[in-house]
Amino acid sequence: MSQSDDAIRKEAEALLENGLKTTVFPRADDDAQISSIIAELNKSDGSLEQRLVIGGFTLEPIEYQEIEQACETCMYYLVHRRYCELPELDVPVEAEWSCRLWRI
Ligand code: SF4
Repeated sequence: MSQSDDAIRKEAEALLENGLKTTVFPRADDDAQISSIIAELNKSDGSLEQRLVIGGFTLEPIEYQEIEQACETCMYYLVHRRYCELPELDVPVEAEWSCRLWRI
């Protein structure tokens, strides 16, 4: 049986709280950078840990170029499910989390 969103979200939170080192920078601020991160995700084993690391996840918003980047304001965030629908990430998140593929 697949894990529930809540269970996966908790697992992700625990990994990040326990100091998983994620690639927070560089942020994906142009098409080349986005493609490169997506390619890296596609090459990975697709595990939750690898998605968090390559995606550069944090448990709090990252301020970048004077914009606060949080899942809550990202085009990939599904408010009611608290979920990131970017296919390469495809992961339950919290509104205040962030990743370097943030996009408006
Ligand atoms: S792509 Fe957007 S919604 Fe998905 S984890 Fe990153 S910031 Fe959050």
